[in-house]
Amino acid sequence: MRQKIRRIVVYVSLLLFPVTLNYFSPYVSIDGAFNGIVAGSVLVFLLMFFTGIFFRRAWCAWVCPVAGLSEMCATINNRTVNRKRLRIIRYSIFAVWFAILVSGFVLSGGIRTINPLHLTEQMVSVDEPLKFITYYLVVLILFVLTSWLGRRGACHAICWMSPFLVAGDWLGRALHVSQLQVKSEPSRCIDCKRCNQKCPMSIDVNLAIRQGSIKTSDCIQCGECVAACPQDVLCLETNRRNRKKQ
Ligand code: SF4
Ligand code: SF4
Ligand code: SF4
Repeated sequence: MRQKIRRIVVYVSLLLFPVTLNYFSPYVSIDGAFNGIVAGSVLVFLLMFFTGIFFRRAWCAWVCPVAGLSEMCATINNRTVNRKRLRIIRYSIFAVWFAILVSGFVLSGGIRTINPLHLTEQMVSVDEPLKFITYYLVVLILFVLTSWLGRRGACHAICWMSPFLVAGDWLGRALHVSQLQVKSEPSRCIDCKRCNQKCPMSIDVNLAIRQGSIKTSDCIQCGECVAACPQDVLCLETNRRNRKKQ
């Protein structure tokens, strides 16, 4: 049931992508920076950072429109990906984009104003026919990359937003905040590896659960592994709550 709800939410998010596109846009944030404006996308990235403190990367499983697209692409190519190799590409892209963003604010003399509707005056991102070209181009790149690379390929390879979630996750851990995470009771595991087959982030869940919880910041708290496990080894909850003995 939880997975059905999650899928419905991310498919609705995907349908709303023409409305929300600018709020995730690296271009809009840079354009704002060079004009001394904190644009809506920068505010969304900050929101992602703060959600990361408590919910780690749950945004990626429960909110992001690309999650809906990735679910669709998984029906075409469900291969696991090399997370470590793609992570290098992702963080390189992030570093370049972040450097340009900061340079923009410095060169424009610092932050002069906050405008969530910068370049989105009508509140809808795709508000004229020409902008559909940008929209379809973005969707095409995400679709081709994910269908080619495998499970959540575009997320692993090019997402400039996930580092904000990861930074929030790290801060939450450093502050010992009660965070959402997959916990486990490894003694019940029968090594069937259904969790591995289901994990959209290509995590070796079967191996990761030996630590008592899934610690990698690649885990998006989707709960697919929890739903797939026949032995009730896994549960998705905050780390302050103890599992009920069954
Ligand atoms: S990794 Fe990026 S694109 Fe993928 S679901 Fe998370 S925030 Fe969205
Ligand atoms: S480990 Fe479980 S909760 Fe984490 S991404 Fe994989 S399936 Fe989802
Ligand atoms: S699905 Fe459950 S029982 Fe099977 S390997 Fe994963 S954790 Fe172990």
